[in-house]
Amino acid sequence: MTKIDKKFVIAIDGAAATGKSVLAKGIAQKLGILYIDTGAMYRAAGYYFITKKIPMTEEEILKNIDLINIKLKYIDGETIVYLNGKDITSYIRTEEISMAASNISKNKYIRKKLVKLQREMAGEESVVLEGRDITTVVFPNADLKVFLTASIEVRAKRRQRDLEKKGNYMDIEEVKASLQKRDIQDSTRKESPLTKVKDAIEIDTTNLTNEKTVDMVISLLKERI
Ligand code: C5P
Repeated sequence: MTKIDKKFVIAIDGAAATGKSVLAKGIAQKLGILYIDTGAMYRAAGYYFITKKIPMTEEEILKNIDLINIKLKYIDGETIVYLNGKDITSYIRTEEISMAASNISKNKYIRKKLVKLQREMAGEESVVLEGRDITTVVFPNADLKVFLTASIEVRAKRRQRDLEKKGNYMDIEEVKASLQKRDIQDSTRKESPLTKVKDAIEIDTTNLTNEKTVDMVISLLKERI
C-alpha cells in the first residue's frame, strides 16, 4: 500500500461498464482510502420504488423521500448496501434495477438527498468516488477528475460477464441495447447529466487492464498534489 499524507479527493465519472468501480476499488485498496460507489445509492433508491411497487412520480417521490435510508459499509473491499437496515447488496445488480436507478436518478429531490449524503460520507478523509456527477456536482474541486470511456462492444461484454457471475444470463445484443438506453437517459437528462468537464482527464479503458489504469491514475494524482 502507498500512503499519501495529504488529504485528497479523486472524482471519477463515466457511463455504465466503462470500468469505474474496478478502478475506484483498485485505487482505494492501493492507497488505503475510502471508496464511495454512488451508483449503488441510486440503485438502492430505485430498488425501494420497484419492490414497493410505487410509481416514480414526483408526488410519490416527495411522499417517500424521508422514508428512504441508505447506508454503505465496506467489508473486505466490497460495498455492502443497506436500505432501511436491510442488506440489499445481492438484489441491486440486475438490469431491472439498473434501469430503475437511471429512472429515479432523474429526480432533483433524490439527487439532492444523495449528493448531501455522499459529501457527508466523504467527510474529512481522502476518498475516491465514482458515478455520473462527481466531477460536475458532488466534488467539482476534486484534486483529480477522471472521465472514463470504452467501446460499446467491450462494455457490453464486461456487463454480460458481471451479470453471468451473478447467475443472470443475458444476450449480448440485449445487454448492448440496455446500456445504450441508459447512456442516452443519463446524458440527456435535465438534472446533472453525465458530461465530461474540461479539466477531467479522459481515459479510454477499451484496451487497458485494470492494473494499468489504476497505476496511471495514481501517478496523475501524485503529479497534482
Ligand atoms: O454506476 P451505476 O451503473 O451503478 O449507476 C446506476 C444508475 O444510477 C446510473 O445509470 C445513473 O442513472 C445513476 N447514477 C447517477 N449519478 C451517480 C451515480 C449513478 O445518476 N452519481
